[in-house]
Amino acid sequence: MNQICHNPLENSQYIEVIDLLSYPIAIIDSAGVIRLVNSSWKEFACFKHFNISNWIGIDYLQLCSQGSQTCIPQSLKKILNQDIDYIKIEYHCEDKDCNHFFQLSANKIRINDTDYLMVSHEEVLAKEELIKSQQRLSIAVNAAQIGIWDYDLKTQSLHWDSWMYKIYGICPNQTQAAYNVWENSVHPEDLAQAVDDFNKAVRTGENFESEFRIIRGDGEIRHIQASAKVITDSQRIAIRLVGTNIDITQTKKSETKIYELAYFDQLTKLPNRRLLEDRVCQSLVLNRKLKSYASLLFVDIDNFKSVNALNNHNVGDQVLRALADRISSNIELEATACRLSGDKFMVFLPHISNDKLEAMKHVKSIARKLIQKIQMPLTLNSTAFKLTASIGMTLFNGEAVYIEDLIKQAELAMYKVKESGRNNISFYDPQMQIEILQRKQMENDLERAVLNDEFNLFYQAQVSNHSGVVGAEALLRWFHPEQGIISPDKFIPQLEETGLIVLVGEKVLHDGCKKLQQWASIPEFSQLTLSVNVSSAQLLHEGFSSYVIQLVSQFKIKSGKLKLEITESTFIENIDATIAVMNELASVGVQFSLDDFGTGFSSLSYLKSLPLTELKIDKSFIKDIIKDGSDMAISQTIVNLANSLKFDVIAEGVECAEQQYLLHQIGCNNYQGYHFNRPAEADEFEAFAKNYNKQLRPKPAGAHEQCLTHQSQLRA
Ligand code: C2E
Ligand code: CA
Ligand code: CA
Repeated sequence: MNQICHNPLENSQYIEVIDLLSYPIAIIDSAGVIRLVNSSWKEFACFKHFNISNWIGIDYLQLCSQGSQTCIPQSLKKILNQDIDYIKIEYHCEDKDCNHFFQLSANKIRINDTDYLMVSHEEVLAKEELIKSQQRLSIAVNAAQIGIWDYDLKTQSLHWDSWMYKIYGICPNQTQAAYNVWENSVHPEDLAQAVDDFNKAVRTGENFESEFRIIRGDGEIRHIQASAKVITDSQRIAIRLVGTNIDITQTKKSETKIYELAYFDQLTKLPNRRLLEDRVCQSLVLNRKLKSYASLLFVDIDNFKSVNALNNHNVGDQVLRALADRISSNIELEATACRLSGDKFMVFLPHISNDKLEAMKHVKSIARKLIQKIQMPLTLNSTAFKLTASIGMTLFNGEAVYIEDLIKQAELAMYKVKESGRNNISFYDPQMQIEILQRKQMENDLERAVLNDEFNLFYQAQVSNHSGVVGAEALLRWFHPEQGIISPDKFIPQLEETGLIVLVGEKVLHDGCKKLQQWASIPEFSQLTLSVNVSSAQLLHEGFSSYVIQLVSQFKIKSGKLKLEITESTFIENIDATIAVMNELASVGVQFSLDDFGTGFSSLSYLKSLPLTELKIDKSFIKDIIKDGSDMAISQTIVNLANSLKFDVIAEGVECAEQQYLLHQIGCNNYQGYHFNRPAEADEFEAFAKNYNKQLRPKPAGAHEQCLTHQSQLRA
């Protein structure tokens, strides 16, 4: 029999009603047989595995008992047999990849005087999940401060959520979102690009991505990252864009900060070495292609240490900033000025000329200009500074070289300027590289010399007008196995650079103290003092004072016999540490003489705070003292200064009697120089001292006597 014929609900209006509902609905009779289903029921995923094409007439209770939802028939039976009108049960149904949670509702209904049950299924958790995920999304969108917009291309209507209004600084009560509102907000400089990006997305249907600045309602400029998905119709024509705007101003700022930190010097705001290297690297490729010359200029400020030493570092920083300004504002636009470190700057001139000579000429003119500008008096907080610079230059045209090598070349040329008196310019010359190799060779030789103890002390007399030879200065000599005797000017700087000076200096002090002990036991020499030169690296080296104190005790050195000669550069390095070391040593009777006095840049006020006992007038003032009035005046000033500070004073480099006489005239009665003896080995010096003191001490020669005459008289 055809079930449909017996189905009273078939062809009724109910089918139309329940078909309107989007969730699965079935109407079953009191026996549990399905009498009517809507379209959703037929599609309902949970029933798929039953593979039923016609649901009408199916025993629903029996069907459910076959499946895993046994709770359903039980509950349905309950409502059918008892006086209950309505039940709701939840069950779950496993699909391929996930669990679905459903709610079954059954209502008793009466149709044409017959009782039926209307059964419906609804996916519950999915709904809750949706709400939850919508909530999550909204929280996330809020937390991330993302603005959401929706633009309908057909109606040209733009919808902004509340964050869009906040980002754009627009009050929704006053201005409603519209395309022209957006356009008016975009920074004029970025508008064309932003509109272009937008139109391209509309044209191609590809996602819209753009970055632009906006000028907010309050005038503040913000960086925006915009993106959107383009929704197209069936003909792939864009009809709508839904997207976001994110305010990335902070990120932009951090990016800029990171870039600045990575590529710029924080003190002067000039590019740093890294940026310079990048620019040189880029330029090299072009130089090669265009066959053009470029140049690097290494600018080192002369004696900058003294600026820091005599003022606080704050002032030093201000001076560096001012110098950075002078350097960067006196080079052409395409050039780069950078600060390498401390007082070292570098200027890079790309693509100067294709002609080498012309390029050199141009570089020289720039370097000279920089020298001039740096030299100009600089006044900061009413302190006047006069600075000079040494500039080394190198020229290159894209040949395969390492940038470090180019910088090194310019640096070498700069050192050449320093060696020949500073405040000048010099081009790199391959000969300099040879010198470097020689220096390297010397370094190896020196290491060997220290191991083999190839050093020895020479002694030069210190003569007093009244008492003859009163002491000596110990002067180091290197007995090189192949080159013979080498004088300290040639190797002391390198000993200092390599740190070997500490070891060699200890040997000098040891041998000197040993000599003092020997002299102490010989009546003719027992009054002699010994001056020992001490480098700043040595004096400030840890353990220096304890080493000297140990020698003083080991060799029983009497107070006042050992003098250490230091130069102004020593206390410029670190005044407090120097004073501490000096005081410690002064307490065991060690005296201090300030060597090369008058050539440094130190402030005279330091003299008061240092435990000095002697000033040594530098030989450069003595050299021309006879004919140069200003040398005479300087020497006189030093003598007066020594007298008023109650220091002894001695002149070095006294080569003739006339110089000795003039010095005597201005009140300097202690001398050292070739006029008396040349530095010699201990035996020779001792013989000289014995002889000199035995003879009638020569009186200072007459002012107009010839140096030569007097010397020959002395020798005779
Ligand atoms: P300095 O301390 O200024 O020593 C004086 C230099 O002048 C010595 O050169 C000496 O030989 C030279 N001299 C002496 N009398 C005359 C003169 O009448 N005319 C001229 N033109 N020069 C004269 P020297 O021995 O070549 O030493 C050069 C420098 O090497 C010294 O200058 C000192 O700074 C350094 N030095 C020497 N020995 C040592 C040492 O043991 N340790 C350290 N750290 N430096 C040393
Ligand atoms: Ca000296
Ligand atoms: Ca000296």
